[in-house]
Amino acid sequence: MFVGGSIISSVEFHANMSLVIFMSKCPLACRYCHNVELLDDDSEKSFEEIRQEIDSSADFLDAVVISGGEPLVQTDAVIEILTYVRRIGLKTKLDTSGIYPDKLKKILDLNLLDFISLDVKAPFSKYRKITGADIGLEVKKSMDLINSYGVHLEIRTTFVPTLHTKEDIMNIVDEIKSDVYTIQQFRNRNVLDPALEKVEVPNPHDLAELAGEIKPNFNGIVKVKSAEFGEQVI
Ligand code: SF4
Repeated sequence: MFVGGSIISSVEFHANMSLVIFMSKCPLACRYCHNVELLDDDSEKSFEEIRQEIDSSADFLDAVVISGGEPLVQTDAVIEILTYVRRIGLKTKLDTSGIYPDKLKKILDLNLLDFISLDVKAPFSKYRKITGADIGLEVKKSMDLINSYGVHLEIRTTFVPTLHTKEDIMNIVDEIKSDVYTIQQFRNRNVLDPALEKVEVPNPHDLAELAGEIKPNFNGIVKVKSAEFGEQVI
């Protein structure tokens, strides 16, 4: 399986300590992607190596998070890892762009997930403008599917000042249904499009103000994630 690396984190699964495994490859090319090195990385690890990595830290882990890249490019590998994580009694989370609803359904049918973070990068009808790929309908289908299975769902939007407007965030909130909505701060280092390196990072106080404005319209928890303050519940 193509795996770019892993970290131990206390912020990727709410307050749980988790091992985050970064699966390589992604069919998209979001201009603001900051996991550029994963998009076409050919580094491989065997399942046995991943299993040993999980086992060596299992005593202090609550969960394993499968992130990327887009993990569902390698659905069979994801299923193999999640099946093992379930078997040893840790919680499971998947980060996805929502581009593959059919592959996601395969995993949901196996009841392998406790928590999903789904990127909603734009209002569904504006996906091409913001990401370059017209995949809004697939992402909506993934969102509806997750909700129909009742898996805990966080929807995340990375706010890029030159790509998103306040109205875009308002429109996204009108279109989504999830337990949590998180506005993530754009970071301008190591991004796919070098032109975005000149774009100023949004001020976390402005993001918190925006989150405060949308909160009355969202039936769930609203958060802001920034380099300065980590994860803030608004
Ligand atoms: S931001 Fe996510 S979906 Fe977009 S190219 Fe990067 S890894 Fe893929």
